[in-house]
Amino acid sequence: MIKEADFTIKIGRVETKSVMTKSNGPLGGYAVNPYVGCTHGCKYCYASFMKRFTGHQEEWGTFLDVKEWPEIKKPEKYAGQKVIIGTVTDGYLPQEETYGRTRKILGELKDSGADILICTKSDLVLRDLDLLKEINEKNRLSVSWSINTLGGAFGL
Ligand code: SF4
Repeated sequence: MIKEADFTIKIGRVETKSVMTKSNGPLGGYAVNPYVGCTHGCKYCYASFMKRFTGHQEEWGTFLDVKEWPEIKKPEKYAGQKVIIGTVTDGYLPQEETYGRTRKILGELKDSGADILICTKSDLVLRDLDLLKEINEKNRLSVSWSINTLGGAFGL
């Protein structure tokens, strides 16, 4: 079902061989970004430089490509590996309600034994509590949830 939010955002689809990207970051492991672009469009976004690699001319925050990838056949190969979901997009954007890409990858990794970290600003993550509880029984799981304020540093 297409939601109202989708009418102001240019939605596309992009096929990728794998959604798991080996990370060169300090934590190592894998970065998972189920979408290209981030429709939160934060003014201070540290990831907006990614636009130059996407082929999009639109302003950061006004486009979103929904990733399609083949099902992960051997999730156990990620056992003990750090897997960070949402390094340059929020996996729980409003469009996730429609496209369910983050729920898809969580379902594919649920028995993997990976050390999963989800970074989000959205309470849509609560939709997946059933799956997250199930994942937590077999994996290490953390949810990092950040809150914006209109105040100064530390909201003071
Ligand atoms: S949620 Fe993160 S990735 Fe998305 S626009 Fe804001 S700062 Fe950028």
